Amino acid sequence: MSVIETDYLIVGAGAVGLAFADTLIDEDPDCHITIVDKHSKPGGHWNDAYSFVALHQPSATYGVNSMEMCPDKVDTEGHNKGMYPLAKHAEILAYYGKLMNERLLHSGRVAYHPLTEYLSGEDGTHRIRGILSGEDNSVAVRRKLVDATWFQTSVPSTHKPAFEIAEGTRFAIPGELPSLWQEADNLPDRYIVLGGGKTAMDAVVWLVEAGVAPEKIGWVRPRDSWMFNRKNLQPAHAALDDLLDFQVALVESANAAETGDEMFAELGRRGVMLRIDESVTPGMFHFAVISEAEIDLMRQVTQVYRQGRVTKIEPGKMHFADEAIDLPENTLFIDCTATAVPFDVREDTRPFFAGDRITLQLVQTPFVPYSAALAAFIEANFDSDEEKNALCPPAPLTDCTNTYPYAVMANLMSTGILSNNPKTNEFNARSRLHPTGPAIAKMMREGDPRLAAMSKIGDMIRANMPGVVKLGMKAKAIHEGAA
Ligand SMILES: Cc1cc2nc3c(=O)[nH]c(=O)nc-3n(C[C@H](O)[C@H](O)[C@H](O)COP(=O)(O)OP(=O)(O)OC[C@H]3O[C@@H](n4cnc5c(N)ncnc54)[C@H](O)[C@@H]3O)c2cc1C
Repeated sequence: MSVIETDYLIVGAGAVGLAFADTLIDEDPDCHITIVDKHSKPGGHWNDAYSFVALHQPSATYGVNSMEMCPDKVDTEGHNKGMYPLAKHAEILAYYGKLMNERLLHSGRVAYHPLTEYLSGEDGTHRIRGILSGEDNSVAVRRKLVDATWFQTSVPSTHKPAFEIAEGTRFAIPGELPSLWQEADNLPDRYIVLGGGKTAMDAVVWLVEAGVAPEKIGWVRPRDSWMFNRKNLQPAHAALDDLLDFQVALVESANAAETGDEMFAELGRRGVMLRIDESVTPGMFHFAVISEAEIDLMRQVTQVYRQGRVTKIEPGKMHFADEAIDLPENTLFIDCTATAVPFDVREDTRPFFAGDRITLQLVQTPFVPYSAALAAFIEANFDSDEEKNALCPPAPLTDCTNTYPYAVMANLMSTGILSNNPKTNEFNARSRLHPTGPAIAKMMREGDPRLAAMSKIGDMIRANMPGVVKLGMKAKAIHEGAA
């Protein structure tokens, strides 16, 4: 067993660990970083994703601070037409590979151990094990251990379904759908998509776009979801007014509502939030972003099963707790029941900075890479844990309509804290991962005349704050009660 020495040991080479490392090597030019990850390549769960997955938010604010992810021009084809690009699976993996090879390793200050598991650190020692070699090494960490695994992302290819699958059942994960061409002489008579989240939506959109007749598709959707309308969330340099209008819509709707459901109903009326079925009041909100064109495609599937979760599938039948549904023998069940982000990690928020450990969580919900990059900036530019933690209280990872107002309130408070500190304010102004910072900073540098009108937005937000806080505190009680 040999001893590896480093300043920062980052566990996890996903979006979070890499956004942290990318910012830290610039902000602390002397530090050495070691990154370990069980996967064989950088990119975390994106390595296990289905080939037709794409970001659901514009790529402009995903990835790391130092590198753009996609060209700065709108899509001209497909269901994202007219909007800024969403990096696709292969692009995301290529991006993180390039980042690792051409920037992090090339700096000479980063060591990367793929296919390596971090084992322990409780007694002050850190052990890592090569998964294929079985070789153990000890890591002497001069400064801090950085836990970049907190989100515990789960995807269909690596999770275990919570229902029984009888022998002989035709079953697939989304990643297997593009191979259906190999079964052209035995195509399924029915396709049943299991799950109500974004992966299920992607699978339904994929099937319809691939030419499967919508009447051949059934959708087990135990819960419905509200989603952000992507057209309101385009990059700030191109659509700052829309982003600011979105903020105003959020606070006005919160101020006028007694419950989260009422707030979402108002946001739905304004077209800021979308849902698939207008006759259903969704209770779920997992921060998915969608286009109106995708909603139109999903609405073509009208056979929706709302009996709850399936308990068992078998050839020609699916079972719910109280009911069984007959289906054609040759039905293909598609498992989209992985939770992506398991929202129960919310029970486990803790200070970002605690002695010799940093736990990367959200500073603002749902800005995952931005939060990690900001944490690196804070680590390098402030002294005590107390000072650092005061700048980034962990934001709540809410999961439903009645708790989301808590996240809205917490984000506004975080914005206040970060903009009142000259150093974090300056970081936001140059962070490509921040939704509006660089665009507003550019306008200020150029004395853009639109700034005068924009200052009224701040007044509107302040005027609505009493209602935002009232609803936010109610939502906080629900969130904490459920945790
Ligand atoms: C299909 C899908 C689409 C998404 N789209 C978006 C989007 O558009 N925008 C957005 O903001 N978010 C999106 N998300 C959320 C997404 O989870 C986050 O953006 C982000 O990728 C999470 O990164 P992470 O680094 O926390 O997790 P991961 O990607 O899971 O990385 C954690 C890494 O830690 C490693 N690890 C864990 N334990 C150990 C250990 N003991 N030793 C060594 N290594 C370990 C794992 O191997 C893994 O590689 C999406 C999620 C899914 C599933």
